[in-house]
Amino acid sequence: MRVIVTGGAGFIGSALVRYLVRDRGWDVLNVDKLTYAANLQSVASVSSRANYRFVQADICDGDSINRIFAEYRPDAVMHLAAESHVDRSISSSAAFISTNVFGTHVLLEAARLYWSERPPALRETFRFLHVSTDEVYGSLDGDGFFTESTAYNPRSPYSASKASSDHLVSAWYETYGLPTLITNCSNNYGPYHFPEKLIPLIILNALENKPLPVYGDGRNVRDWLYVEDHVKALTTVLERGRTGETYNIGGRAPVENIAVVERICDLVDDRFPGDIARRNLITFVPDRPGHDRRYAIDPTKIETALGWRADQTFETGIAATVDWYLNNAWWWRPLRENVYSGTRLGLIENSPINETQLADNSA
Ligand code: NAD
Repeated sequence: MRVIVTGGAGFIGSALVRYLVRDRGWDVLNVDKLTYAANLQSVASVSSRANYRFVQADICDGDSINRIFAEYRPDAVMHLAAESHVDRSISSSAAFISTNVFGTHVLLEAARLYWSERPPALRETFRFLHVSTDEVYGSLDGDGFFTESTAYNPRSPYSASKASSDHLVSAWYETYGLPTLITNCSNNYGPYHFPEKLIPLIILNALENKPLPVYGDGRNVRDWLYVEDHVKALTTVLERGRTGETYNIGGRAPVENIAVVERICDLVDDRFPGDIARRNLITFVPDRPGHDRRYAIDPTKIETALGWRADQTFETGIAATVDWYLNNAWWWRPLRENVYSGTRLGLIENSPINETQLADNSA
């Protein structure tokens, strides 16, 4: 297999690149703009392999993307490049619309042009896998779960941009017959996670005995998916999924945010005892505007139709994640010092995020 992975220097994309290059032996071209969220150190363990290549490119740049298709001649595209942080989308939505909506359109058109000129047998096997989020479904109030037929109801600039991109992908399947697949997954966590997101932020603040910010009352629920389970699910969908279909991917692990934070505190206390119990550092802070209350995925379709199931429970996955951060300061310390130190993002009274800082990719 020759696969283009977009966003392969990001959190999930880099886990996918490592898995495909190292464990599956596929030929991978990592196409990434290298925004603040990217880190080529995350793919350093595979970057010297003959079946891995990297090109720095913006998915909004049609000429570059067309050239990449023509030169690399992929069998499939796995599209993960995106602006991905809800808080940043609240303060500064333009980049989300540009990359997530316009960039997906550019990629779909480049893929369609390339695919339409392939011989029939290769047109048949070509795949375009679009990686999306359960946040497109909105917020659950009661005990329900998101299924593939749940109506879209995005409520943040981020989720609205991802919902838009999902609709574009569906339209390219229906209108042009491009062989697409869509996955909507729940919140990922695991190694190499940029420390602006809840789990790595809390782990690193706990290690440094800093306040542990919890939004609102801490009772919001996220359904946690270990990133290495996720990338196996994506590969399964690419290999065995039915084109035109959507697959929800979740680890059957809905947990309240406060319980996530408390579990991290206890694990850090256990591995790296401090002067005080880390739970004493928990600080409730003003809630995220429009904060979705609860997400929970029903992954029955991918489990029964494709035979994928998450290996990690939340307990095993969070312990592995804490241990990874304890052992890999070489990866996260430069990010904390040079790219993002943990300041609060996404309050409406904040001035827009400094674009220079966002564009900085010194890590
Ligand atoms: P991330 O922010 O860690 O990485 C995104 C990557 O995309 C970065 O390497 C960045 O440089 C690259 N990128 C951004 N704009 C680009 C552009 N214009 N052209 C080329 N590359 C660009 O994101 P992630 O957490 O790895 O998420 C990957 C995908 O999975 C995204 O599409 C996201 O919406 C989706 N997703 C993520 C989660 C999660 O919990 N992280 C959950 C559901 C879905």
